[in-house]
Amino acid sequence: MQENNKSYPILIIGAFTVILFASMVAYICTYAVTNHRVMMDNSYNAHQTLLRKQNTRGTIYSSDGKVLAETKTDEVGNETREYPYGKTFSHVIGFSVNGRSGIENLANYYLINSNAALKSKAEAKENDQKFPGDNVYTTLDTALQETAFEALSARDGAIVVTEVETGRVLALVSKPDFDPGTILNDWEEITSDKNNTQLLNRATQGLYPPGSTFKIVTALEYYKEKGEDYKNYTYNCNGKFTSGDDVIRCFHGESHGSLDFAMSFAKSCNSSFANMSLQLDKSDFGKTLEKLMFNSDLPWEMNYSKSNAVCSDALSDGDTMQLGIGQGTTTVTPLHMNLITAAIANDGTLMKPYLIDKVVTADGKTIESFSPKEYKKLMSEDESDFLKTLMEGVVEKGTASKLKGLSYTAAGKTGSAEFKDSTSDSHAWFTGFAPAEDPEIAVTIIVENAGSGGEFAVPIAKRIFDRYFEMK
Ligand SMILES: [Zn+2]
Repeated sequence: MQENNKSYPILIIGAFTVILFASMVAYICTYAVTNHRVMMDNSYNAHQTLLRKQNTRGTIYSSDGKVLAETKTDEVGNETREYPYGKTFSHVIGFSVNGRSGIENLANYYLINSNAALKSKAEAKENDQKFPGDNVYTTLDTALQETAFEALSARDGAIVVTEVETGRVLALVSKPDFDPGTILNDWEEITSDKNNTQLLNRATQGLYPPGSTFKIVTALEYYKEKGEDYKNYTYNCNGKFTSGDDVIRCFHGESHGSLDFAMSFAKSCNSSFANMSLQLDKSDFGKTLEKLMFNSDLPWEMNYSKSNAVCSDALSDGDTMQLGIGQGTTTVTPLHMNLITAAIANDGTLMKPYLIDKVVTADGKTIESFSPKEYKKLMSEDESDFLKTLMEGVVEKGTASKLKGLSYTAAGKTGSAEFKDSTSDSHAWFTGFAPAEDPEIAVTIIVENAGSGGEFAVPIAKRIFDRYFEMK
C-alpha cells in the first residue's frame, strides 16, 4: 500500500512531463513546418534571382523548330525577351514579366537553369557572358497555330487543336490577344480597363454555354441508358417542344419534321433533345457529367476554369430540358470540349494533354523529355463508336456539311449557343475530328457572337483540317 501511495505523485508528475513534452514537440513541429514553408519560398526566390543573374533565359521553340520566344543581349548586357510571332502565340506562350503567364510560366524552372556543358560555361565566362539557359521545345505547330490565328481573324473566341492518340497540343488560340513583346509598355492600358479581357485565355478559362455541342453528352447518356433501343426513337418536330410552362425552340424556329435519333443529332433539333432529356434518369445523368469531368479538375497544368453542368433528381423538368440542349446554367471551356472530343476520337480514352515536349541544353543535349500518358477512360469503346457514327452523320447529312466531299473525312458537332434572352445573339461552335475513320486530330472552335456554328465555325475547322492534311 505504501508503495502505491508513493507512486501516485510520480505518476502525476510523469503524466505532466509527458504532456508538457508532447506539447513542446507539437509546438516545435508546427513552428518549424509553418516557417519552413516561408523559408523555402524565400530561398526559392533568392535562388531564382541568382539563376537569372547567372544564366540567360532559354529559348522556347515550336515542335517544328521555330523560335517562339528568345532573349537577346546587346553589347552592354541589356536583355530583351523577343517573340518573333508577335500576337500569334500570345496566350499560350505568355510572358516572363509581371508574374509570368503561359509556357513562360509553366517552363520557367527549365528556362532559368543552365545545364550547358562545362566547356560552354567556361567559354561564356571567358567572354564575360552569362551561361546559356536550357531551351524548351513545345508540342505547338507553327503552321496550325498560324492557320487557326488567321482563320479566327478579328473575331473574339478560341481554338484548340490536339493530337488524339498522344494528347500533344498542336495549337491554342485566344482572341482578343496581346503582343507579349510589348506587354510591359502596354500593361497599364491592358489592365486598367475592367472590360478589357485581353489577358484571359479564352481557350482554357473562357466559360461558355456549350449549346448544341452538348448534345454529344445528352446522346451519350441516352445510349448508356437505353442501349440499342435508341434505334426505335422517333420525334416529330414542329419547331418547339412544350412541357408545362417550359418551351424549347429549335434554332431560328425551324421545323425539322419527322426525325430518328441520328437525324435529331445531325440536324441538331432542340425540340427532339428536350424531349429526349425528359426520358433520362436525372441521377445517372449527373454521374455521367462527373465522369466527363464537369464540375471538377481537368488534366491541365496552366490556368483554366472548371466547367459547370449539374443534373440530379432535384433538377426541374424545365432545367433538365435546358441542360439537354446545353443551355441554361451549363457552361464549358473550349479546352474541356476538346478533351471530350479527343476521347471520343480515341476509343473513349483521354490522353493527358501536354505542351512541353522536351528540354534541351544549349549544346543540344536532351535532359528531359515528356511522353504521352493515358489520363482516364471517359467512356467505353462501344460508346465512343456510337458517338463517332453520330458525329459522322453531322458532316454527311447535317449541320457540318461544309466538311463533306473533301480529300479527307471529318466528323463533329456544331453549336449555336445563345447567351442572351434573344435568338439573334449566339456563339458559333464546332468540335470534331479527322479523319473520321481513324482520327488523328481534334479541333474545337468557338466564335463569339457570330451566329450559327455551321456557318461560322465549320469553315474555320475546314481551314485547320485542310492545312493539317496538306502538311502530311
Ligand atoms: Zn427541331
